[in-house]
Amino acid sequence: MAAKVNVEECTGCGLCADECPAEAITISEDGYAVVDEDECTECGACTDVCPNVAITLWIRFCRLISRTAFKSGFSACS
Ligand code: SF4
Ligand code: SF4
Repeated sequence: MAAKVNVEECTGCGLCADECPAEAITISEDGYAVVDEDECTECGACTDVCPNVAITLWIRFCRLISRTAFKSGFSACS
């Protein structure tokens, strides 16, 4: 599943686009990042550089939730 952008949090700074090795991110005329889902390789590089946590890779989010859930005995994403 490709990276997703939360347009409410994205400032259009372009850091994610600069970091994306697949050149899958562009900044729209409206001023936020857009991911080309066909090009995204799910590497996660964009999520590491975003200062606003505005771009999310579901696989990573799911692992985070799973780690948290494991401690409480509940698995949300497995
Ligand atoms: S997960 Fe990787 S390939 Fe996909 S948009 Fe982010 S940096 Fe680009
Ligand atoms: S790094 Fe974050 S705030 Fe900047 S353009 Fe990408 S998603 Fe938007």
